[in-house]
Amino acid sequence: MGEYIRGVVVKLHVTPEQEVLFKQNYGCTRKTHNELLNKYKAKYGDSNKIPTKNELNQFLNESKKELPYLEETESTSLQQARDDLHKAFKNNFKSKRHNTPKFHSKKKTRPSFRQTIRKDKRPVENNTLTLRKHGKVTFSTSIEYLDLLNSPNTKFNNITVYYDGLNHYAAFNIETDAPEQLPLTEEYIGCDINSNKNGWLVTSERQKEFFDVDHDNQMIKHVNKLMSKCRKGSRRWKKLEKRLQKWYNKRTNQLNDYIEKLTYNLVKEYDTIVFEKNYSTIKILIGGEQNMIFPLSRFIKRLKDKFQLYKSESDGVQFVKPHNTSRTCHHCGHINKELKVKTRNWKCPKCGKILDRDINAAINILNRWFNGDLPEKYLN
Ligand SMILES: [Zn+2]
Repeated sequence: MGEYIRGVVVKLHVTPEQEVLFKQNYGCTRKTHNELLNKYKAKYGDSNKIPTKNELNQFLNESKKELPYLEETESTSLQQARDDLHKAFKNNFKSKRHNTPKFHSKKKTRPSFRQTIRKDKRPVENNTLTLRKHGKVTFSTSIEYLDLLNSPNTKFNNITVYYDGLNHYAAFNIETDAPEQLPLTEEYIGCDINSNKNGWLVTSERQKEFFDVDHDNQMIKHVNKLMSKCRKGSRRWKKLEKRLQKWYNKRTNQLNDYIEKLTYNLVKEYDTIVFEKNYSTIKILIGGEQNMIFPLSRFIKRLKDKFQLYKSESDGVQFVKPHNTSRTCHHCGHINKELKVKTRNWKCPKCGKILDRDINAAINILNRWFNGDLPEKYLN
């Protein structure tokens, strides 16, 4: 039991009374974070000292005395805020990629709180979640997730509740047994990632992947325009603000669904998926004027996670050096130094083969992983 840590998100159906309690809990969590950070700054100024857990705990106890209403909210969520702040300090010390801990603003920080679960407790029964202090909340999710959450082999670590401006959600951090493994297929594939319009992902199997949220972007633009025409804070403005949030959420959900489905299908079909090592330097804009960036690192991470989860015996995600993969003819190995970035299709000057730039690159990426040995199916 408890081999795999997984995250499962469900949508909550809260009563008006619970909505009030949730919002108090969001507020108290944010307040706790800011109070502890304040006390830290009062003591250490702008020095880079990492506070100890004990110090932060002392700050928490002081804050509870100064602001008695903090005592009224659920207590483990305040402890979680304390632990998150401690983690943020440690991460910042470890790597410059993490920012120094900042104050949480009401506008810019997503409202959330996290409750820990006692080892002997099962917080879920059928489609009802029991939260400390807030009572029973019903939720909706897929049958697959419902089974998982109700399985006696699932162990609950913690539950994060958050609000996206329209709905409240619960994100479960759970430990489960290894899921049923997918059968090995002995299929492998090379993938070329592009920021051009000919498919953001092109494979050695000649598949091209497209993703666009043009319609959602147009709606976001349209509602923004309507909002600019009415008085800020008016009833109509508030109504439009909700509508805008709905389109933003829809766009995010669509992207998440797309990534989850695509990664699952790839893992099901292939045992090995090869990419160029430099993928993190590629920026794919999918947001039109909104400039939404496709989350490539998340895509790769979800692929790795799913290989580990569903095909642990396979080679999974592999990388090769990015060098001349577009300019090399996969058929005869000739390097075409004259090839321009804009040229989509080209004829190999040596062997005469007509090549699609991206598919050729994807085949080269796969071949490079095979150490230069051409797999039979590409010799024709
Ligand atoms: Zn050639």
